[in-house]
Amino acid sequence: MSTIQIPGVKTEQAEIDNNNNNDSHTITVSSAAEGIHCCKSGRRIFIGTCGIRNPDQQIFEGDAGCFPFGGCGYPCHGGQPFPSVPMMLPNPADLLPTVSLNPFIHREKTSSQSPDAFFETLLNIPNIRTERTEIIEDGDVIITVRSTAEGTCCHRCGRKTYKSYGYGREILLRHLSVFGRKTYIRICPPRYQCTLCEGCPVTTQKSVWYEQRSPHTKAYEDHVLLQSVNSTVADVSIKEDIGYEAVMGIIDRRIAVRADWKEIRKLDILGLDEISLKKGHKDYVTIVTALAGGETVILAVLKDRCKKTVKKFLKTIPKRLKKTVRGVCSDMYDGFVNAAKEVFGKKVRIIIDRFHVARLYRKDLDGLRKKEMRRLKKELSEEEYGKLKGAMWALRKKEEELSREETQILECLFGHSPELELAYNLCRELTDIFEDDISKSEAKHRIRIWKTRVRLSGLNCFDIFLKTLEKRSEEIANYFVRRQTSGFVEGLNNKIKVIKRRCYGIINTDRLFQRIFLDLRGYPLFA
Ligand SMILES: [Zn+2]
Repeated sequence: MSTIQIPGVKTEQAEIDNNNNNDSHTITVSSAAEGIHCCKSGRRIFIGTCGIRNPDQQIFEGDAGCFPFGGCGYPCHGGQPFPSVPMMLPNPADLLPTVSLNPFIHREKTSSQSPDAFFETLLNIPNIRTERTEIIEDGDVIITVRSTAEGTCCHRCGRKTYKSYGYGREILLRHLSVFGRKTYIRICPPRYQCTLCEGCPVTTQKSVWYEQRSPHTKAYEDHVLLQSVNSTVADVSIKEDIGYEAVMGIIDRRIAVRADWKEIRKLDILGLDEISLKKGHKDYVTIVTALAGGETVILAVLKDRCKKTVKKFLKTIPKRLKKTVRGVCSDMYDGFVNAAKEVFGKKVRIIIDRFHVARLYRKDLDGLRKKEMRRLKKELSEEEYGKLKGAMWALRKKEEELSREETQILECLFGHSPELELAYNLCRELTDIFEDDISKSEAKHRIRIWKTRVRLSGLNCFDIFLKTLEKRSEEIANYFVRRQTSGFVEGLNNKIKVIKRRCYGIINTDRLFQRIFLDLRGYPLFA
């Protein structure tokens, strides 16, 4: 166990906690450091050690496992009586600067093992025998193993063969780090000859813990995939010190590029969303998701947002799953709404989510602000115009989130532009309707009143929005039927926003699908 990197301790025993699915291991160490700071006087004491007092053993958890320290008692000679001094443990941060140690609860202990057997158990790889463990010059750990499995299936006829034919070339596989050190497993896979096939072909033994073309063990790939959740490939590549291409290779090998219908039991609510892959560009792709059993599932990333493309995809949904669709959540874009209507017919409710509606009227308000700011820049003195700095953010915030300065900016702005104040208040009124817990018919009624108020206001900034509201009144009001869709869309929108920010430059829809899949499902799958 020469790989432990804690100064001032001596390893005494290593054991695996069998009560916990072998996922924790305990290394018992004793302090090899001399002296201690008295817990009362704070003075350093070296003399008069009373030997191992072993007060309550304490266990700390680090990345690599648990480190219990039996304490030594030191009586303080600083005028204080010998207190029942549980040894003050050295600051964990001093012991292991790169691993955070947290006080950890006691666990039931089980079998003790020799360090070698312990190491083999830790590897958690079936059918191997550890032959050699070494630390090479740069500090990496190399574990040489040999397969203990017998025979293999002939690659030609598929029959099992046991006729040994030496070993294949040596392969080095990156595995999970041991105590923070990069760790590799070295193996020469055995080869077997098939005597039943013509020409007696030779087959190299395959193992379940690595794939033949991969330079990593599956356990390590799982680890990298977990690291990739909500992260960028570049980040993971730096943290793991493996190449960008290696991370991409793992994602490509392990994450499919389309939904596996067999894995999905029901769809419930479908979500259709669009994102542009390059900042400022209009080259949209469509993201199709489903809220099934409270979980968001990615179904597809489509190459554009044409009705034809969306419709073609929706048609590929197996009949069994199509029947489970209860609603389609979409933005107001005609291509989506019409594609969904044509595929699912009248039985399925199309829901335009409040967040998509809000985006439209807020954009109109912002348009009016820009126009008014241009006017005010010409009309106001430089000093007076300067007071309006920050108006854009203040207008976008919810009223209860405004700071005092922002409220003042808005008051000043509205003083100069009553039109903007009117538009601002109308937007807030509409938001209130969506906030209120009301029925669909009541919502329709209140939205109608709101539309009248906008018309009477004489404002023209909402003209296009009013037309949309007219055209999609039914779909917008559907939001009030099952309000729970909003959480799904909001949560998904936020996720997509983050993915978008992270993934600018991913112009490949397959890649985008894999990343969204990892963000949505990575934790349950690989944690
Ligand atoms: Zn054969």
